[in-house]
Amino acid sequence: MRILVSGASVAGPVLAYWLRRYGFDVTVVERAGSLRKTAGHAVDLFRPAVRVVERMGLREKIEAKKTGTDIVTLVAPRTGRRVDVKVANLTAAVSDEHIEVMRDELSTIFYEATREHVEYVFGDSIASIVEVSDGVEVTFERGDPRRFDLVVGADGLHSTVRRLTFGPEERFTTFIGAYLGVFSLPNYLNLDGQVLTYVDVGRLAGIYGDRHLGDARAIFLFHGEQIDYDYRDIEQQKQILRSRIASLGGEVGRLLEHMADSPAFYFDSITQVRMESWSRGRVTLVGDAGYSPGPAVGGGTSLAIVGAYVLAGELAAAGGDHVKAFTSYEREMHAPVLASRTFARGTARTLVPDSAGRLWAMVQAARLANALPTGLIRSLSKLQRGGARLHDEIRLKDY
Ligand SMILES: Cc1cc2nc3c(=O)[nH]c(=O)nc-3n(C[C@H](O)[C@H](O)[C@H](O)COP(=O)(O)OP(=O)(O)OC[C@H]3O[C@@H](n4cnc5c(N)ncnc54)[C@H](O)[C@@H]3O)c2cc1C
Repeated sequence: MRILVSGASVAGPVLAYWLRRYGFDVTVVERAGSLRKTAGHAVDLFRPAVRVVERMGLREKIEAKKTGTDIVTLVAPRTGRRVDVKVANLTAAVSDEHIEVMRDELSTIFYEATREHVEYVFGDSIASIVEVSDGVEVTFERGDPRRFDLVVGADGLHSTVRRLTFGPEERFTTFIGAYLGVFSLPNYLNLDGQVLTYVDVGRLAGIYGDRHLGDARAIFLFHGEQIDYDYRDIEQQKQILRSRIASLGGEVGRLLEHMADSPAFYFDSITQVRMESWSRGRVTLVGDAGYSPGPAVGGGTSLAIVGAYVLAGELAAAGGDHVKAFTSYEREMHAPVLASRTFARGTARTLVPDSAGRLWAMVQAARLANALPTGLIRSLSKLQRGGARLHDEIRLKDY
């Protein structure tokens, strides 16, 4: 059975790995000319995703690349308050296990683990998908048309497979009231293992350096109404970011000076992908393409890894019967997908406080997190309802 996967970041190569292991033939098409090795951002693997990479025999390799961020320094320029929080204390509330790694390094590890047995086509994109009686005819922007048995979109928040199969993006995305900007810059503060975060009502700026990176990454989040901007106009996006963040104080002015010559800049609204069902005929979606909880707020990477594992497992369990497999895949992922959406909306609100009261509460909570031992934080957060520990609640099936 031949399966075409669109996208070679996280969900795509993990899916390719498991499909191959179950005996399917896999082709992965990636729009970028090669795996991008610069200007990524840090992503999180929580317990179930750690279990999946363990089963792939890749845990050690991934741990060797972990960012090593130990301390978040929270600065509220408005009050001059400054609190150092241990990252372990923050993540303990979410999951018993956590690995933070740069997305590009993670996808390189997945790619290396699959490249020998999977066909990778870089620098191309699916142009059309037509289902015929016993398969799918696919045309590409550059390569020759080909026929596959199934097509899977692992091509992220702005998925082409989703658009071609289900319709325009606006139908399935919901803005959750915040924007995100990220760029790389020289590590002029010599940060290693520390995230320096400036926070005020409605906005946040952070900079972190990683011992593997050689440079640093700045991240900005702000709340607001939906802005009408051209997603191709980088200068306009930089201007929007400047206008919202420049007066935040602290190191922010210098960070923004570096933005002008940054080799990599990313700006997007934080939107969630909400679909009742993300499979149609012989096409399905995995990871951000089908159920992004929103970048930077909902643990999308763990969800993408678990989703890929489940999809491949259900296809194997159903002996390649895609109707059965897609139904079980969606059923298995339904609860985690809903929980991650709720979690992401909550994170967007608490990460960037929307009132002076919440800002105060955030600084107090940071101080408290520091004072309590990790074990106690874990126990307290287990009592909490509302999905904070959603990742650990996912039970992985053995396929
Ligand atoms: C700035 C930022 C910060 C984030 N921070 C975090 C975090 O702290 N923790 C966390 O867990 N998650 C975070 N995320 C989210 C995380 O990156 C995603 O949830 C995760 O990467 C999803 O993986 P994916 O493989 O589904 O999609 P993506 O990683 O988006 O990959 C999609 C792939 O498809 C390719 N592609 C796109 N269009 C096409 C096409 N037409 N044809 C072929 N290929 C195509 C892209 O080039 C890319 O390689 C963040 C995201 C962003 C943008």
